Amino acid sequence: MRKKIIAGNWKMNKLAAEADRFAGDVTGKLPDDDNVEAIVCAPFPFLPSLVEKAKGSNLQIGAQTMHFEENGAFTGEVSPAMLQDLGVTHVVIGHSERRELFGETDESVNKKVHAAFSHGLTPIICVGETLEQREANDTMTHIESQVRKALEGLTNEQIAASIIAYEPIWAIGTGKTASSEDANEVCTQIRTVVKGFADEGTAEQLVIQYGGSVKPANIDELLAQSDIDGALVGGASLEPDSFLKLVEAGT
Ligand code: 13P
Repeated sequence: MRKKIIAGNWKMNKLAAEADRFAGDVTGKLPDDDNVEAIVCAPFPFLPSLVEKAKGSNLQIGAQTMHFEENGAFTGEVSPAMLQDLGVTHVVIGHSERRELFGETDESVNKKVHAAFSHGLTPIICVGETLEQREANDTMTHIESQVRKALEGLTNEQIAASIIAYEPIWAIGTGKTASSEDANEVCTQIRTVVKGFADEGTAEQLVIQYGGSVKPANIDELLAQSDIDGALVGGASLEPDSFLKLVEAGT
């Protein structure tokens, strides 16, 4: 049986003291349950302190992006080795905001996924369609292409250890959630696509999250779906109470 994985994506929010306060508020209250994992993906400056504060708790700390190169003349970038060295366990790769605003492509996403595995980091790989694509019935063609390109060249073991976050772009930060059935339909298709180029066992182990206006009020019905194994949550992950409720829903 797949675990439920609830990951908060704080995006560009909070100041250091607020991040620390969040960790202080949640670490002692997370459920002690092997079937659910809780991750907070925070801005780079907060990572060292959050990793320290999360030690010995059930909270894992992730980054929101990284470069794929090992080191070198890449002003402003953060390497996978730096994240590994800090004790970060996860990294969000190819979030739609990175693709739209910062020029990330399927090719760079694939390089980053490989770099994550080379450094013991679990990639949370984001895929999702625009409203235009959905309305033109292009959702599955687009998602299939993103999934294939992101996972290209990985071993089945690496695919099984990956996390894919299906985040319809029109549902991000808009208050519009995909209906749980529609979200599940895409997640099921993602698993079917992966079965096609990996194998059934690998596809069955792959964790697929839904993201886009997830909140305590809708998490239960999303997690009740056959192929939704967790959530990648923006706005509702910022407050400790709300984050704890989301994780609780996974137990
Ligand atoms: P919201 O939960 O704020 O809609 O954001 C979703 C998201 O982009 C998570 O990565």
